[in-house]
Amino acid sequence: MVKTRFAPSPTGYLHIGGVRTALYSWLYAKQKGGDFILRIEDTDLERSTQESVDAIMEGMEWLGLEHTEGPYYQTQRFDRYKAVIQQLMDNDLAYYCYATSEELDDMREQQRERGEKPRYDGRYRNFTGTPPEGVKPVIRFKNPLDGDVVIDDIVKGKVTVSNKELDDLIIARSDGTPTYNLTVVVDDWDMKVTHVIRGDDHLNNTPRQINLYHALGASLPKFAHIPMVLGPDGSRLSKRHGAVSVLQYKEEGFLPEALLNYLVRLGWSYKDQEIFSIQEMIEHFDLETVNSAPSTFNTEKLLWINQQHIQNTDIENLVKNLAPFMQAKDLDATQGPDLALVADLLRERAKTLIEMADGAVYFYQDFKSFEEGAAKKHLRGVAEEPLQKVQEKFAALSDWSKEAIHHAIQEAADELEIGMGKVGMPLRVAITGGGQSPSIDGTAELIGQQRCLDRISMAIEYIQERIKNA
Ligand code: GLU
Repeated sequence: MVKTRFAPSPTGYLHIGGVRTALYSWLYAKQKGGDFILRIEDTDLERSTQESVDAIMEGMEWLGLEHTEGPYYQTQRFDRYKAVIQQLMDNDLAYYCYATSEELDDMREQQRERGEKPRYDGRYRNFTGTPPEGVKPVIRFKNPLDGDVVIDDIVKGKVTVSNKELDDLIIARSDGTPTYNLTVVVDDWDMKVTHVIRGDDHLNNTPRQINLYHALGASLPKFAHIPMVLGPDGSRLSKRHGAVSVLQYKEEGFLPEALLNYLVRLGWSYKDQEIFSIQEMIEHFDLETVNSAPSTFNTEKLLWINQQHIQNTDIENLVKNLAPFMQAKDLDATQGPDLALVADLLRERAKTLIEMADGAVYFYQDFKSFEEGAAKKHLRGVAEEPLQKVQEKFAALSDWSKEAIHHAIQEAADELEIGMGKVGMPLRVAITGGGQSPSIDGTAELIGQQRCLDRISMAIEYIQERIKNA
């Protein structure tokens, strides 16, 4: 059975590039009917924080990348790592290294002077003498001296590294705590991970890890190293390019499935399809065809995809995601039309849920003034009569439907022998407070008859006031 995992280190926010790797792992497990493990790699006690763990959990949950196993915490597995390190020591596959950091600095300096690549020279590999006093040793793995390591990577293809290039890796620090390369191997082995899907920033570690697997008598998982996500300037995507934390995208009004859709396409494609539902991603995703070159993050594209999902998602889902943004603006959806109807009207134009919530204000809250620019342009003397006319027509309607409203506006314009726009624009400013809204008849319908009549009165007063003061 296929088992994949996502193994973030909780040392910061949940990075959007990391999420793409998590998504690929999740999709692969999901499509194969396998398991997806969440593992928190928190052995770096100084840099790991609970806040970061919480952000990982919240981000994964928001995105719906649910794990079927875990979360495991590496800090709860120290006994196991110790036992494995001991086993390697007992089998003469690991050794204490007493070299001090000054000594190692000197060694590297000399290597550089000789034009060699700095690497640990194995000076304690076969040490049998008396250990120097006062030095707390690290433990190093005896990397094989000869031969090659071949990574048969699903994304990168065959990568061959000579063991001569690899030095003896530290598997336990001088305080006894295990290092990443050891814990990751022990965990993936113990947890029976079949596919290690991770960022290609770890490709350098993989040959060493493969040697560790062999030393432990463990069978190898398959590896898939996913290229990095780059910013527009070609460097690795980071804060200075804009938002990289997943939760920031949540706050900025993206639908989780839109973000996933964007990320799945970043480095993978299926025919020329751009928009994918989660189900379609699961169905079509193919690890084998993930691009082996890095991809560039593009916010405009992400916004476009978000817009597509906002337009096409089912209305319950849209309302569920929009609700927190309404709350954040203190908009009480019980104080006006059904939010589903408003959302359906607003979704044609909005790129984000924030834009939708901004656009929803006048459906739920009355306003005391009109937007300055729009009022200046449209609430002028010439608009007084059309507004009066349309108000009369509106007041007389017993059927407050979009069609009836449309008809009433048409009639007002016809009777005054003016174009629809001469009625429509002042009316829009009157009932929404601004110059921008979805179709005026649909908007008026949802705002409601009484509210529309009151707001038109307010606009007429505004105009009269304006004439008086002119
Ligand atoms: N904890 C590692 C990281 O966050 C990932 C290790 C792995 O996937 O093998 O970079």
